[in-house]
Amino acid sequence: MEKSAELLQISKKIVIKIGSSVLSDETGSVNRRTLKNITDQICHLKNAGKQVILVSSGAGICGVGAINKWDRRDDINYKQALCAIGQVELMQAYKEYLQAHGVIVAQMLLTAEDFRDCNRNLNIRNTLFTLVDEGVVPIINENDSVSVDEIKIGDNDMLAAHTAVLWNADLLILLSDIDGLYDKSPKEHGNARLIREVYDLTTLVGSIEVGEKSSFGTGGIMTKISAAKETGKHNIPTIIMNGRVEDIIVNVANERETNATTFLGFDIMSGR
Ligand code: ADP
Repeated sequence: MEKSAELLQISKKIVIKIGSSVLSDETGSVNRRTLKNITDQICHLKNAGKQVILVSSGAGICGVGAINKWDRRDDINYKQALCAIGQVELMQAYKEYLQAHGVIVAQMLLTAEDFRDCNRNLNIRNTLFTLVDEGVVPIINENDSVSVDEIKIGDNDMLAAHTAVLWNADLLILLSDIDGLYDKSPKEHGNARLIREVYDLTTLVGSIEVGEKSSFGTGGIMTKISAAKETGKHNIPTIIMNGRVEDIIVNVANERETNATTFLGFDIMSGR
């Protein structure tokens, strides 16, 4: 059986990070069809007895849709303002789609610093555990008003890794607009090869070529590798999948789809 399918089947606690590239269409508007399909998959996982925490980018894109007169302003303050507007739109969409399945959502806006501070860390943990225990789906995003790391370097990949570690998740899923990690950028090289399983990150980093990020993405593939490294230290595997492909999580779980990259946690790697 594919490692990705096996991990999805055995994991109970799953963190799913949704990249901006997944939620945006070619014109830069929010792709509601994709967003709805992902929420349907989350409910499918919940019905199968799994617990899910979401980390979602996309506030900026939702902001452009809500107040399109600012879409060409590159100034970081405008980008932060756009995210503040768009965060409401984003949560409204999640609420609408998950509520249709009887699922309540909760918003948590965090920064990487919050995870480093002992008291804040404890408060985040208590809130997350309580929400999940009550069957609520927490939706985390970077607090763009107090930190610009997500806008500038795509820190939601790392925020998702910190969340997975804090919650002691069984699996981190990074949904992007590509099938996984390639030996070189698939958008720039037609012959790029998908790497299905990664066992050794140190060797890997020297052997792949990193290309441009997507038009509406922020971190590119490197922040995903860093996130996988962080979770790997804690023996939590990470899978990159293409969130734009309909029913991707469910189909990878039952091996109807095999395109994905699985980073295996260190203990799993050594077979312990
Ligand atoms: P997201 O919004 O999902 O975080 P990003 O745009 O930040 O997405 O990162 C994913 C992008 O990284 C892909 O669209 C892809 O074009 C680019 N990329 C560059 N090099 C690689 C590579 N070696 N393997 C996979 N993707 C790559």
